[in-house]
Amino acid sequence: METKFSAAQLADPGVAESEKILRKCVHCGFCTATCPTYVTLGNELDSPRGRIYLIKDMLENDRPADKEIVTHIDRCLSCLACMTTCPSGVNYMHLVDHARVHIEKTYKRPLMNRLTRQVLAAVLPYPARFRLALNAARLGRPLAPLFDSVKPLKPFAAMLRLAPSSVPGKSKSAEPGARAATGTRRGRVAILTGCAQPVLKPSINEATIRLLTRLGIEVVVPEGEGCCGALVHHMGREEAALESARRNVDVWTREIERGLDAIIITASGCGTTIKDYGYMLRLDPAYSEKARIVSERTKDITEYLMTLAIPAVAAPEPLTVAYHSACSMQHGQKITRQPKDLLKAAGFMVKDPPEGHLCCGSAGTYNIMQPEISARLKTRKIANIEKTRPDVVATGNIGCITQIASGTAIPVIHTVELLDWAHGGPKPAGLAATRTLEAAE
Ligand code: SF4
Ligand code: SF4
Repeated sequence: METKFSAAQLADPGVAESEKILRKCVHCGFCTATCPTYVTLGNELDSPRGRIYLIKDMLENDRPADKEIVTHIDRCLSCLACMTTCPSGVNYMHLVDHARVHIEKTYKRPLMNRLTRQVLAAVLPYPARFRLALNAARLGRPLAPLFDSVKPLKPFAAMLRLAPSSVPGKSKSAEPGARAATGTRRGRVAILTGCAQPVLKPSINEATIRLLTRLGIEVVVPEGEGCCGALVHHMGREEAALESARRNVDVWTREIERGLDAIIITASGCGTTIKDYGYMLRLDPAYSEKARIVSERTKDITEYLMTLAIPAVAAPEPLTVAYHSACSMQHGQKITRQPKDLLKAAGFMVKDPPEGHLCCGSAGTYNIMQPEISARLKTRKIANIEKTRPDVVATGNIGCITQIASGTAIPVIHTVELLDWAHGGPKPAGLAATRTLEAAE
């Protein structure tokens, strides 16, 4: 694509990077076919190509963001399906991230929209605040229909509906410190405890720690880890995102100096962001190299397990597992084979639901900020999953677990919980009442 940026504009490294990305786009439109918002809404401006034109126009003309561009960029899930499809290697992720920063700096959002974003940014990344908010949301749930009837309050209705009916107690798995390997030590890793996940489903990191230590890996929860910054990053709040990234880079660099094989991530949304720390901090001379090393050392739990050559076992129960690949897993990190291979080697029958490339509509806080589009995507996703007639759905991202579980009676379990069970751990709590379809018929 031809661009017309001036030399003065290109002096800004963010603009210079976006210009390089824009020049790669050849307008072919292949990406539109796999874009969930284009597939759902049918509007070119809600497709990757349409958004790329809008961003180009805004940046080239040095214009502040306006209502139109904000509407279409806000509707983007950042699912990155377009990057998987694009034959020209357009890095839509870095382009839309830059556009969001520009929007945040130049556009004044309506009051309720600002307030909702403020609340999310002030609560979700902090486990103690998030736990309090979830408990309050349980009491406030009857108010959801009332909030639904006033358009600017719809995100609050979505928050109330998404809150679980009970919140698990605090887990020791999030406490800083090392967990020794069982038997001979084969390696040492750090685990990201995360922010929302340990509150909603501490069983995920508990299963990860059990499985890894059983396989001879020492697992350390480093003191001082925090939210990866993805939430504010996707809001265009650059400084807040970089602050989270720097804090985590400092913490993990200390551990790397003590000897660390990998930084294990059990939420693929966080994994995509942390693997991008090297890019995010590229302009910071004090952090660029450390961030690059951290990104390189970051592994999704399934990626790391594949390196351990775990022996195949018979599944504890003959379950059919529909594997839902989170967008951040398949498009963001290009991890497609490993989770399914591990589940198969653990004796489960694994099925791929149709339209697996399409987002479930969770996408961080998207299901709160864009509840209508999110609900349509959820319905479509669940219909596709149910076509495979599974006993259980496995996935590697807490956002997808919450989203899909809110619309189906089929249990939705993190992949690592099934693997831990197959390799000697307890049966995942959500599977307690599951019978195989065969047994039920
Ligand atoms: S990131 Fe997803 S929603 Fe956004 S333009 Fe690309 S495919 Fe569409
Ligand atoms: S597929 Fe790639 S090159 Fe083609 S329009 Fe989409 S972003 Fe541009």
